[in-house]
Amino acid sequence: MASSAPSHPASLWSATAIPDRDWPVLAGPVHADVAIVGGGFTGCAAALTLAERGARAALVEANEIGWGASGRTGGQVNPGLKYDPDELETMLGSELGPRVVAASGNSADEVFGLIDRHAIDCAPVRKGWIQPAFSARTLQVVTKRAEQWAKRGADVEILDRARTAHLIGGDIYLGGWIDRRGGNIQPLSFVRGLAAAAHRAGAAIHVRSPAKSLERRGNKWVVRTSGGEIEATTVLIGTNGYTDGLWPGLARTVVPMMSLQAATPPLPPELGAGILPEGQSASDTRRLLWYYRRDAQGRLVMGGRAPFREDLGPADAIHLRAAVDRLYPQLRTVPFEYHWAGRVAMTKDYLPHLNELAPNLWAGLGYNGRGVGLATVFGRLLAELALGARPADVPFPVTAMRPIFGYPFTRVVARALVRYYRVRDRLEAD
Ligand SMILES: Cc1cc2nc3c(=O)[nH]c(=O)nc-3n(C[C@H](O)[C@H](O)[C@H](O)COP(=O)(O)OP(=O)(O)OC[C@H]3O[C@@H](n4cnc5c(N)ncnc54)[C@H](O)[C@@H]3O)c2cc1C
Repeated sequence: MASSAPSHPASLWSATAIPDRDWPVLAGPVHADVAIVGGGFTGCAAALTLAERGARAALVEANEIGWGASGRTGGQVNPGLKYDPDELETMLGSELGPRVVAASGNSADEVFGLIDRHAIDCAPVRKGWIQPAFSARTLQVVTKRAEQWAKRGADVEILDRARTAHLIGGDIYLGGWIDRRGGNIQPLSFVRGLAAAAHRAGAAIHVRSPAKSLERRGNKWVVRTSGGEIEATTVLIGTNGYTDGLWPGLARTVVPMMSLQAATPPLPPELGAGILPEGQSASDTRRLLWYYRRDAQGRLVMGGRAPFREDLGPADAIHLRAAVDRLYPQLRTVPFEYHWAGRVAMTKDYLPHLNELAPNLWAGLGYNGRGVGLATVFGRLLAELALGARPADVPFPVTAMRPIFGYPFTRVVARALVRYYRVRDRLEAD
């Protein structure tokens, strides 16, 4: 029986993506080696890795492929984590630390490698990611960041004020750094391309099939939907900010926050020529950051934090309008053509989580706004765990699930923090 799952929210990406396949709803019993819950970057990258390595993989997505954050992201492929390499090595120790730094630094290689290998038609641009600094304090932070990555051989450069102004096409920043490993993509096309590649390799993909229960049957797991079930040795969960009650407590390990984006129409050359002229994407150093890029048709796509509601619309984008007007005053009269929003999953420790929930049951989530690269990497790592890799061999900490203490209050705390950050950003910019 088909469920009445929502189709894609209207967005720039749903309007311009490559077509999706007509994936079936799960019907009847299916036997697999690995069942995967969630059809975003995590789930689809896991399905692809498993199928390529000869495992029988079956994926269930509650809505459509890429319906969650993966089909709504800014599409910025930004390497690394929130923490700088030196911090990570101090936090995680001299054995695991450098491996986490390397794996997170290589996340863009993984995305662009998959795009090449599977000829995914998702408008990839690999010209780098710029982090421009809006204050003297954060200029010091990004300078150190660039130095630390340079020491580890990454293709990065510190940008002075004039070079930043040229690459951004606006002069409000004090300087910044560029990480040439990064780039940008059409994210919904990418995730659709991953699902199609997984299917070609032998994975079964099912949409409009929310997993309703997850139980043991003998030495197997059973994932049940309203129309069928998958019996599998191993289950992987990749539901990130859209995690529901399927596995008790998992939703309480992440704090979903809303991020809102708006896009202009394609900019005519007289307005657009100087804006991000070399094709980089940017996300600045504000605590409530502005992230922006051009798309393949020359639109400007601007994103930022938003209130926690699913029905966000143009009225909630006043701050994005203000950001565009401040950065690019020549666009003051250019209206936004698209608005859309989605859930970013934050974690308390700002690290992504690879959790062993029970024997042969794994979850990857909590990418803190860096999931284009990280979720793609975590999908592969989850697949490797399912194929028998030892947690100690995985280049991220594999931990037990730790629900956040006092979870019902996190929303109140998050709201207060957003207000506080807004004030701090304003004071720091003055
Ligand atoms: C507006 C926005 C902008 C962003 N910008 C960037 C960016 O520029 N760069 C970057 O690196 N990251 C960005 N991110 C973060 C990034 O998009 C996510 O980290 C990433 O997409 C997570 O992928 P995922 O596959 O883990 O989860 P998702 O893509 O969210 O997929 C989870 C899926 O699980 C499904 N699901 C949930 N419960 C069930 C169930 N019971 N049964 C079956 N299916 C289920 C949902 O329907 C959903 O489709 C952004 C996020 C948002 C929302």
